[in-house]
Amino acid sequence: MIVKFVGQGPLPCAFPVWPGSEDARDPPQRAATSDQMPATSSTHEPRIAIEPGFVWDRQDAYLFDIDGTLVRSRDRIHIDSFTSSVQRVMGFEVTLAGILLAGSTDTAILREACRQARIPAEEFESRSEAILEAMRATVAERRNEMVVERMPGVEDALRHLARRGALLGVATGNLEVIGWIKIEQAGLREWFRFGGFSDRFPVRSELIGRAAQKARELAGRGASVCVVGDTPRDIDAAHANSLAVIAVATGRFGFDELLEHRPEVCATSLADLLALTREEA
Ligand SMILES: [Mg+2]
Repeated sequence: MIVKFVGQGPLPCAFPVWPGSEDARDPPQRAATSDQMPATSSTHEPRIAIEPGFVWDRQDAYLFDIDGTLVRSRDRIHIDSFTSSVQRVMGFEVTLAGILLAGSTDTAILREACRQARIPAEEFESRSEAILEAMRATVAERRNEMVVERMPGVEDALRHLARRGALLGVATGNLEVIGWIKIEQAGLREWFRFGGFSDRFPVRSELIGRAAQKARELAGRGASVCVVGDTPRDIDAAHANSLAVIAVATGRFGFDELLEHRPEVCATSLADLLALTREEA
């Protein structure tokens, strides 16, 4: 049941909000070591907040984050490739413990893990490309063991946007090879025409900027580009590039946490957002 009201109370914005029972959801779990095991409950009250005047499904192009937004990985193949690749290339033991993975990038995570392990910077710089290549090869070799689940409503939302003529791309902190493997394993490859990845962009706002540039090369210079993501880092990176953002609480962060970062749209899931749109049509 979706209840509509115009929020004026403690919410940081004055756009219409459809609140739900916060108690119905699992609390966000930030301490886990993987951003690929989100804390989403299967039963929740749909909640949607949309900034007045913003029409979420009428943008020219969309940049979808992968982990926590389109899919969740039920295996540790990608996560374990960081430590096994550093071990193989440099002989050092590193750990991802203590690094906030959600919304980060593979290249930034690798750098931070090596810094924490006190690997000398010059040594890391000289071997970082070899480590990234080992990660790509490891994940590619094990692609058929991966267990990648789609988030609720993802394919319906992609179909809905594609039917409206939108250009669809991915923009993710994954390395390119790894990101496309996840998309292929989830059976979603046909929807996407381009992507932005972290191979050359450890900073998320820079990879989003580059992906938006690609979107405009394909969709036209004045095309409106909208980011879809599951973390405050997605929201901040979109806004740093003056792009609108649809935030979905299907990853590690809850609806209210995401709403604090003022996305143009905040939704408990793409399925809920689509259901509301169809209800109003
Ligand atoms: Mg994500």
